[in-house]
Amino acid sequence: MNWDDYAHWGKEIAQWGAEYHKALAERPVRAQTGLGEIAAQLPATPPEQGEDMSNILADFDAIVMPGMTHWQHPRFFAYFPANAAPPSMLAEQLVNTVAAQCMLWQTSPAATEVEGVMVDWLRQALGLADGWTGVIQDSASSATLSAVLTMRERATGYTGNRDGLAGKGPLRIYCSDQVHSSIDRACWVAGIGQDNLVKLPTKGARFEMDADALDRAITAEIAAGFTPAGIIAITGGTGVGACDDLTSVLAVARAHDLYTHLDAAWAGSAMICPEIRDAFWGDVDAFDSIVFNPHKWLGAQFDCSVQFLRDATPQLNTLKIEPEYLKTTGQEVTNYSEWTIPLGRRFRALKIWFLLRSYGLEGLRSRIRNHISWASELCEALRALDGFEIVTEPILSLFSFRCPGDDAMQQRLVDALNDDGRIYLTQGAFGGQKVIRFQVGQFDTTRDDVMMAHAVIQEVWETIR
Ligand SMILES: *Cc1c(COP(=O)(O)O)cnc(C)c1O
Repeated sequence: MNWDDYAHWGKEIAQWGAEYHKALAERPVRAQTGLGEIAAQLPATPPEQGEDMSNILADFDAIVMPGMTHWQHPRFFAYFPANAAPPSMLAEQLVNTVAAQCMLWQTSPAATEVEGVMVDWLRQALGLADGWTGVIQDSASSATLSAVLTMRERATGYTGNRDGLAGKGPLRIYCSDQVHSSIDRACWVAGIGQDNLVKLPTKGARFEMDADALDRAITAEIAAGFTPAGIIAITGGTGVGACDDLTSVLAVARAHDLYTHLDAAWAGSAMICPEIRDAFWGDVDAFDSIVFNPHKWLGAQFDCSVQFLRDATPQLNTLKIEPEYLKTTGQEVTNYSEWTIPLGRRFRALKIWFLLRSYGLEGLRSRIRNHISWASELCEALRALDGFEIVTEPILSLFSFRCPGDDAMQQRLVDALNDDGRIYLTQGAFGGQKVIRFQVGQFDTTRDDVMMAHAVIQEVWETIR
């Protein structure tokens, strides 16, 4: 393919994209294809001869698109959102086109320098104090793994990387029982081990970690010969939106000199609204590390996860490695690949720049405030449905409910709704029972889209009860 062909097909695809998005509300949200149906349409062997792009794109429409679940659909209420606002998509096209490997300052100074400024813009947008630095990672999972590795190295006097962990005795990491599975996996792969991740019970309307229980657990475990390494708090847990009380968690961390990481992967975006920040993030500036995903609620296309670091030194002492071929001579530069586990890195900051300039913080705040208020409106409408029960009240734009009947009935309703296709939502677990999760956060969703869920849930429920 030559570059004129590339330009031709690039325009076709941009046009296709606009039409796709304009008509998206008419498609079923979740893919309606069965297991193996897409794979069965692909040849089992690779082609020997090249084909024309028109054939390839025709097959994309015919074979691939029916098997896609539409995350940008305005009635996507499942999981958490994965928004891709149009200016962010445009930035991604430019990044894909220039296709630089942005591992070092000198491998693309603009990528490093724009990233530094964007992390600082987001620091200000989230109301964090001066002095925080940070880095853009691919995912919250990677940022949390970086933080857990840092906890491990700090607790072992930075000897784990060199000597391994043998003979060091068990390290302990503490969190609530509402954390995301990425915390468990970070502890697995960091050599901490699942059994050394201590999950405290939660209490109160925001399902916060019991800080007294946390303090007691740490004190008892030190006496028993364990080495506490860190505490992971959450703002906006995946299940029901649990939010730890940061002040009480930090007090315990300080008393025991523990490294702290805050997982705000989903809810962090809402902190661009000062009133929300004040309600959830009182003492946040005393954390050591915070992760939030602009690729969820804020509108930056996946992948884009920001890890803020109050002091980057412990993480650099953990992850920085500098073989001769990666050395930059002559200047003191920031090489962001030293802050993270992968060496290679995409130019992720460009989409933040496009997004923030295109909407302004006010444009993004008004979306988030709308989502929160529509979620609570829908919650009230569902509460009024005969026999329906709100299990967890809205935290930001997430709540959970149950229809009349047992756990199997909840799953039947979720499956029937997703087969119907007009809305998409997922089940969760809370208090030992199955719940139906509902979150509002898609970038283009309207009040009508959200309220339509009420009618659809009622109607589908009537067909299965
Ligand atoms: C989505 C989510 C994660 C994982 O995010 P990735 O970027 O997909 O790794 C972690 N924690 C919470 C609370 C989340 O909502």
